[in-house]
Amino acid sequence: MSDNKLIYLDNNATSAIDEKVLEAMMPFFKENYANPSSMYSFGATAQKAVVEARGIMKDFFNAKSEKEIYFTGCGSEGANTAIKGVLGADKTKKHIITTKVEHPCVLNPYKYYESKGYNVDYIGVNSNGELDLDELKEKVSSNTALVSCMYANNETGVIFPVEKVVDIVKSKNPDTKVFVDAVQAAGKIDIDVQKINADLVSVSGHKFHAPKGIGALYAKAGTLFTPLIIGGHQERGKRAGTENVPYIVGIAKAAQLAKDSLNYELTEVKRLRDKLERGLLKSVFNTRLNSGVANRVPNTTNIGFEYIEGELILLHFSDIGICASSGSACTSGSLEPSHVLRAMGVPFTSLHGSVRFSLSRFTTEDEIDYVLEKVPAIIEKLVKISPYQEELEELRAHK
Ligand code: PLP
Repeated sequence: MSDNKLIYLDNNATSAIDEKVLEAMMPFFKENYANPSSMYSFGATAQKAVVEARGIMKDFFNAKSEKEIYFTGCGSEGANTAIKGVLGADKTKKHIITTKVEHPCVLNPYKYYESKGYNVDYIGVNSNGELDLDELKEKVSSNTALVSCMYANNETGVIFPVEKVVDIVKSKNPDTKVFVDAVQAAGKIDIDVQKINADLVSVSGHKFHAPKGIGALYAKAGTLFTPLIIGGHQERGKRAGTENVPYIVGIAKAAQLAKDSLNYELTEVKRLRDKLERGLLKSVFNTRLNSGVANRVPNTTNIGFEYIEGELILLHFSDIGICASSGSACTSGSLEPSHVLRAMGVPFTSLHGSVRFSLSRFTTEDEIDYVLEKVPAIIEKLVKISPYQEELEELRAHK
């Protein structure tokens, strides 16, 4: 493999647009640029494309009706619509619950409501990143308006048992709404809202090979939520703004392709992820797998390189074309260790030196072999300049 090739292992941050997605979108930038709400026949193609795309997203979620699907601008909009929408529609209950390891697009709206006087509970996770369901059961009450729980964690890939979460919540209070942020599950595992039974579920196109700037929100029929964007009649009055037709076509095409390649994700992408993970854990002495034995999406591994700095590792990776990340894309850039790894109680020895590798269906065996060939020497180099020489000696002796 050539040394100037890009090895993109940061698909949880964003993913490459599939050529077939781009191809499907192009006519709606060029010849079919009409507003789908227009009355003339020129608008009919665009309108038909939006109707078809909604039908595809209905199938992607396994929703009962197209009327349960709303197009959004991104995953963050989906989460904000769900949270602010549900709390806007029912102002009587003042207790909300989420987990300590959610994406900031959930945690920050929760902090906002906390500042407005809501009582908020943040459910913890164990050292593998698995949710404490007993704690959840204890916290749900007659005053709980909303529980938000992600489907898969963006940093560790750990899958949360959202079906059980919904069961627990609804058995304690059938009126409590449940929102599932499925942004990191979409395209990696099947999303079936009939099984999950949540009231609202969001996805974001750019995590599964559609472009950035388009998402979708499922809201079960009868779920009351106030719109985030008020204006025109679009999305049945729940999300104003002229429909972004090319991107709507794009997310639907990407959803179709994702559904078709789910089996490949669960076998081949997982095999490459496991090869990378096992290879690094074996060949590099100061490593730990941050998610332990937890059930994970097939593309993600989070590895702690003890006693060295994550940022330094990433810079050295970048020099040889490897793209990975430490913490989530949103928190990297700050030196604060990841809130997810802290909630898991990851020891300080690898809190700063943890790296997330996230693969996709476009990752090749050659790329994984290249990483396995190059990374041990990089880590050895960084180990030599680490201020923790005694501790590293001790670790090496016990490996
Ligand atoms: N939820 C999760 C779990 C994510 O990982 C992300 C993005 O990283 C988002 C939501 C936000 O998605 P978007 O970037 O489309 O706003």
